[in-house]
Amino acid sequence: MAEVKRGRSWETSRRLFAEAQKVIPGGVNSPVRAFKSVGGDPVFIVRGRGAHIFDADGNEYIDYVGSWGPLIAGHAHSGVVRALAEAAGAGSSFGAPTPAEIDLARLVCGLYRSIDKVRMVNSGTEATMSALRLARAFTGRERIIKIEGCYHGHVDSLLVKAGSGVVTLGIPGSPGVARAVAAGTVTVPFNDSKSMRSALESNRGEIAAIIVEPVAGNMGVVAPADGYLEAVRGLASEHGSLLIFDEVMCGFRVAPGGAQERYGVDADLTTLGKIIGGGLPVGAYGGRAEIMARVAPEGDVYQAGTLSGNPLAMRAGIETLKMLQEPGAYGRLEESAAALAEGLAGEARGAGVSVAINRVGSMMTMFFIEGEVTDFAAASRSDTAKYATWFRAMLERGVYLPPSQFEAFFLSLAHTPAEIDATLAAAREALAAVRDA
Ligand code: PMP
Repeated sequence: MAEVKRGRSWETSRRLFAEAQKVIPGGVNSPVRAFKSVGGDPVFIVRGRGAHIFDADGNEYIDYVGSWGPLIAGHAHSGVVRALAEAAGAGSSFGAPTPAEIDLARLVCGLYRSIDKVRMVNSGTEATMSALRLARAFTGRERIIKIEGCYHGHVDSLLVKAGSGVVTLGIPGSPGVARAVAAGTVTVPFNDSKSMRSALESNRGEIAAIIVEPVAGNMGVVAPADGYLEAVRGLASEHGSLLIFDEVMCGFRVAPGGAQERYGVDADLTTLGKIIGGGLPVGAYGGRAEIMARVAPEGDVYQAGTLSGNPLAMRAGIETLKMLQEPGAYGRLEESAAALAEGLAGEARGAGVSVAINRVGSMMTMFFIEGEVTDFAAASRSDTAKYATWFRAMLERGVYLPPSQFEAFFLSLAHTPAEIDATLAAAREALAAVRDA
């Protein structure tokens, strides 16, 4: 077992958080970062390298957040840094077409069989928002179906029964969302094609799109049950609704062509984010030529962006996607994630703590629960107090986990057996702390 270093101090982070709260709402620029559901103050990060991050007090951590998914190559990867420096030296933005946009679009269209054309935006939220507008225009319908516990960014119509920060903070949707907008969203449980069918039947001819995370990651990781995605695909076609797979998180992660490749089911529209920008702000939506032809200026559905297709962001994305295409990349991710999942399951058994570990490729969640987690209702029964104890005990031992039960751990190509061993050594002590709490 690797040696576990304990006894960290977070004085500088604490001071920075106090300062941040004076000028930034809640001291953070995205809610889950505030550590609200795990207690204590957030840690301010100053540097990252490979699988490791360093905070303002000089503490080092093995990082399983990876900026919430984008950093599948690890922090400050030399190839990405070099490409960024080159691009920055040539000018950071032009608001005019650049060749790198074609390169990244070609890569995406090559990896996703269902994508003929793709439009770059700046975040996952923008991607889902734009995909919905396009689906409404294409079908001439207005209502949508989303899944309880799936999160698709902070788009008004998609905050209904959303996962991620919305569930972490216990916010029921959000004030400020117009009632009429929320009323156009129908929700059904994940992994339940019967409910999907009845939602479509009771809104016959009205559903523009079904939007789903094909591998759910924002209620914690939940894999699609056998046949679920196929069933949803069939139902969408039968009812003339577009199927939108939100692959912002699982895209390029669970397979080169995302969940669609892993499970062999094609979407009509796909939303992408995170890995596609290699750590810079990029989102994208794409699909069949016939649907994408409606996007302006080819078509009449307006969508635009001052910094969309930004040359730095394109280069970081291209480098990252190319790295993932090197032989053995996905095998390595699978191996380290399997070793971590199996190791954690063994440590939890050893400590007598009940957990359910859900893993798809290099994304996983350890739920503190008895029994399985197959949907949001089950995920919600997890013991979040135990998760908080576990999170803090791991942080004290130099492992940075997602600060919420309802999020995924992300592994990168930079996580080696040494990091996994050190994590498991910390986990042994942390799980004993959970048992004894
Ligand atoms: N869709 C999914 C599946 C996501 O996981 C996220 C972010 N975690 C989003 C959309 C929103 O992306 P962004 O935060 O870049 O707006």
